Amino acid sequence: LIVHGLFADYDGTLAPAEVDREKSRLPSVIEAGLREIASRIPLAVITSKDFEFIHPRTRFADAWACAGGLEIRLSNGKTFATRKLRDLTVGLSYVYKMIGERFYIERKLGKSGRLLVFSIDWRRGQEISRDLLGAILNKLSQEGLCVSYNASYPFVDVFAAKPDKGRALNKLKKMLGIKGEVMFIGDSAADNPAFDKADVSLCVSHGQPLDEVRSEFVVDYDKLDLFLSSLARNELDFSPSLPHIRSK
Ligand SMILES: [Mg+2]
Repeated sequence: LIVHGLFADYDGTLAPAEVDREKSRLPSVIEAGLREIASRIPLAVITSKDFEFIHPRTRFADAWACAGGLEIRLSNGKTFATRKLRDLTVGLSYVYKMIGERFYIERKLGKSGRLLVFSIDWRRGQEISRDLLGAILNKLSQEGLCVSYNASYPFVDVFAAKPDKGRALNKLKKMLGIKGEVMFIGDSAADNPAFDKADVSLCVSHGQPLDEVRSEFVVDYDKLDLFLSSLARNELDFSPSLPHIRSK
């Protein structure tokens, strides 16, 4: 199967998961593999992060689906934004009231300055208590907000509309004019809609539980760069017998 477009998640997939926002960087060996592939086919990042974060870290990409796909931007400036967005300000002030400065709150903005996602993140410092987290999740869901939380990860994302990385993948394919097969690389159940829509789906394993992840193949994080260069060397012809990957 010839890969005509490569799409990938960022956190936990291309870059290590448990890193503070400002410190997160793409390892140079992975960047080299991606650049090699991006010189031949369209490459896009599908992330829950915002453009301001993802763009400087992956400038060589052709497109970025940000905030779980609520905003898509191409390198030529073309933008697609989800129209129906909930106002997150009430939910956000509730969260500030409940947790104050104890945990990091990340605000992810769209091109127009609109708040698309906010995240509560306890990667640094103390763990959030179950009771406090439960109360916050309850309240935000009651407000009708779209809350995404997976107990294996130390953060919660609250979206202004339902994120769907699968829809983002299809939209990107169209916007980038990709006619053939595409590959998606991710690392969590939040990536399942994109794994489902891709022709080849690969999960990066970094020690997280994989039972809920719906990818067809798995690669260890420290072998991802080697896999990317072997795919490039193989003329982008994906085969299950390529080195460094295994069936899930
Ligand atoms: Mg991820």
